[in-house]
Amino acid sequence: MSLADETKPTTTPTQQLADLIRASSCTVALTGAGISVPSGIPDFRSPGTGLWTKVDPMEVAHIDSFHRSPRRFWQYYRRRFDTLADKEPNAAHRALAELEARGLLEAVITQNIDLLHRKAGSKRVVEVHGSIATSSCTTCGARYPLAEMEALFDEGVALCAGCEGSVKPDVVLFGELLPESAIAEAQTLCECAELLVCIGSSLEVYPVAGLPELTLGARGRLAIVTQSSTPYDRGATVVLRGDVVDELEAVIAALG
Ligand code: ZN
Repeated sequence: MSLADETKPTTTPTQQLADLIRASSCTVALTGAGISVPSGIPDFRSPGTGLWTKVDPMEVAHIDSFHRSPRRFWQYYRRRFDTLADKEPNAAHRALAELEARGLLEAVITQNIDLLHRKAGSKRVVEVHGSIATSSCTTCGARYPLAEMEALFDEGVALCAGCEGSVKPDVVLFGELLPESAIAEAQTLCECAELLVCIGSSLEVYPVAGLPELTLGARGRLAIVTQSSTPYDRGATVVLRGDVVDELEAVIAALG
């Protein structure tokens, strides 16, 4: 090593991530609840946060609960629609939309159902847990956009305008499998990615938690932007531990 190398200033993790993004021919982002927390949407796994304190979401937002007691399910989920409908994307969502617009990001895979990536302007968004954008009749398949949902409620239960069948949000409830096409698309993206940037996800919930493994298995690299530790920290090329908004804004600034 020459003296010149030794005196070179050490690269910051932010600069390192910016360099990785610039050098990668295919970068994919994988986002979880942490990216939407700055938009006022609490991560339900964090105890004592807002809407989630009074009920156990894993019980009430379960597919069995939807079938067994639709009124109770909707009492909870209708409020969830209300809470999410007016939320706005934050600078972290916008940073990813900007990267895509600049040709530096292939797609966003998200565990979030809140539509904030789409609202921020991201074009290719793979919603592996579905989204609140639509709900569908479980009998005839008729699909209703979020704005039309309120009109379907009869005695606290959403009923299809055509066949009066039970209408279910197009989100993955607890106890349900992930939509096959979305998870297949996510897997293909992660296998092809030279760089997978995991943002605001604890990477603990399968099958999404298995996606970084696909990138690593295909000799791609991982970058992690999450305040809590993840099972992949040691396998990652760079780990950023700050606030998601601060970190992603700094990466955009470092890209110039
Ligand atoms: Zn119907």
